[in-house]
Amino acid sequence: MNFTTHALVGAALGAHVGSPAAAIATGLTSHLVLDLIPHHDVTDWRGALLDVSVGAATFYLLRSCLAAAGWWGAVAATAPDLEVGLRHFGLWRGRCGFPTHNGDHLHGRWPPIAGTLIQFPFALASLAFILLG
Ligand SMILES: [Zn+2]
Repeated sequence: MNFTTHALVGAALGAHVGSPAAAIATGLTSHLVLDLIPHHDVTDWRGALLDVSVGAATFYLLRSCLAAAGWWGAVAATAPDLEVGLRHFGLWRGRCGFPTHNGDHLHGRWPPIAGTLIQFPFALASLAFILLG
C-alpha cells in the first residue's frame, strides 16, 4: 500500500498500544497485513513523490496529536518500503527481504482506481482514530 496509508495505520496502532516497542512490532505487522490486501501501488517517481508529500504533510499537521509511540508506529510501518525505494533507484540490487516485497505473491497490482480507493477506509479510519483518540 501507499506510504501515507502505512504511516497512518502504523501511527494509529502505535498510539493504541502506547509503548514504543509494541508500536514498532505492530507497525511492522501492519505493513505485512496491509500489503496482503489487494491494492495498487504507485509505479513511478511522480506518484511516489506525491504519496510521500501527502504523508509528510499529514504528519506535519498531526505533530501535536501524536505521542512517541504513534511516531514509532508510523516509522516502523513505513520502514519496509525503504528497500522498495532503494531498489527503484538502483541502490538495492538483490531480492527484497520483506515477505510481501520479494515477488512471491501479487502485490500492488490491482487496477489503479480500485486499488487506490481501497486504501482510503484504512487511512481515514486511522486518521479519525488519531484525531479522536
Ligand atoms: Zn510494502
